[in-house]
Amino acid sequence: MDFNYAPQEEAFRQELRSWLEANLPKDYDPDAFELQDAEERWQVQLAWQKKLHEGRWVGVHWPQEYGGRGATLIEQVIYQQEIARVRAPGIANSLGVSIVGPTLIHWGTEEQKKRYVPRILSAEEIWCQGYSEPGSGSDFASLQTRGIEEGDYFIINGQKVWTSYAHKADRCILVVRTDPEAPKHKGLSYLLVDMKTPGITVRPLVQITGDAEFNEVFFEDVRVPKKNLVGEKNQGWQVAVTTLMFERANFALSGRLEPQLKQLVDLTKRVKVNGRTAAEDPAVRQKLAQFAIEVEALRYSDYRQLTHRLRGNPPGPEGSIGKLFGSELNLRMVHFAQELLGPYSQLGIGSPCSIDGGRWARRALGARALTIAGGTSEIMRNIIGDRVLGLPKG
Ligand SMILES: Cc1cc2nc3c(=O)[nH]c(=O)nc-3n(C[C@H](O)[C@H](O)[C@H](O)COP(=O)(O)OP(=O)(O)OC[C@H]3O[C@@H](n4cnc5c(N)ncnc54)[C@H](O)[C@@H]3O)c2cc1C
Repeated sequence: MDFNYAPQEEAFRQELRSWLEANLPKDYDPDAFELQDAEERWQVQLAWQKKLHEGRWVGVHWPQEYGGRGATLIEQVIYQQEIARVRAPGIANSLGVSIVGPTLIHWGTEEQKKRYVPRILSAEEIWCQGYSEPGSGSDFASLQTRGIEEGDYFIINGQKVWTSYAHKADRCILVVRTDPEAPKHKGLSYLLVDMKTPGITVRPLVQITGDAEFNEVFFEDVRVPKKNLVGEKNQGWQVAVTTLMFERANFALSGRLEPQLKQLVDLTKRVKVNGRTAAEDPAVRQKLAQFAIEVEALRYSDYRQLTHRLRGNPPGPEGSIGKLFGSELNLRMVHFAQELLGPYSQLGIGSPCSIDGGRWARRALGARALTIAGGTSEIMRNIIGDRVLGLPKG
């Protein structure tokens, strides 16, 4: 591995850093942002995406002809580092930018690209992802939502669940079964659906954090024009897998865990354990050291991935290692913070006596979701065992 950056890469970093200094709203406070409710955070993220877009800083990895910067892999890493350094808010149309745009650029017809792609970076059209169903999550190829051909349309009936941002979305990438007789991976089709189409009902689900960021979505005789089919009919699995590949490549967590480790160390200096400051307790110090080692190991593991990609290889099953290890480490870190807080761990956001504004309670409630979304930890272990380590199947 070569840890040095080339002069043009440092120039890219400097350009972005200067832009962020000039454009991140002066009243933006990352700690306060984290404690806001979902609707307030959404508004901040929407405004921030529009601002980034003005500076051409959304979707830097997209090709230039589609409004990106054609950023190299190293530049994408630098981008993530700089955004993490200032703890900028995320963008509103994250699914659109990270998975829908790249999938359409790869698979879409010229007409689809022209119609949909430009409105993604600008957040004019927000996208959601309709894969999971009540009976089909990990094994989503078993999904049952039907699409039946009728003239120039597919008529959709069925239900999706856990659909993030469906209550905000203008469009949905929807995978439906168009051939129930074919083997499960071969009867699927991938559609672009206008969420305002008659027959669609979106019902928000309240999460354990109290926020309602994902939904049940019901489809009742929803008419989707055939020109909204991406790829071939019954070949939707291939398109859907492209989307998943972009999704998992997006899960690198080391950038988020480094600041969290600092906050955890800081917390140990302010709470007491066994009658003394937690930071002085040998067991706590051991734990912090272990977390520091694991955060560092995750960072180098991300670098190893990067080196692999820089040698021209596509993102492979090794991406599951970062997703698994990062989301589980995050969970252990926030649970440890809760242990340190003792009874105070039960005081959430808005409680006047909570420590750090109730941040750790919110994180502890939210952390489990990262071990499920985008493929559960068990599924990641299966992938690593099977496709990375080549272990025999039991
Ligand atoms: C925050 C969040 C956001 C999400 N957003 C979206 C979204 O926008 N769009 C969307 O389509 N979906 C979304 N999902 C759904 C997500 O993709 C599924 O929850 C996930 O794939 C797991 O599916 P499931 O919930 O049906 O669980 P199941 O697949 O039923 O799994 C239940 C349990 O069984 C285990 N298990 C299942 N199969 C195996 C196996 N072969 N070997 C070992 N263990 C196994 C799982 O690990 C899990 O512990 C989101 C989920 C979360 C948490």
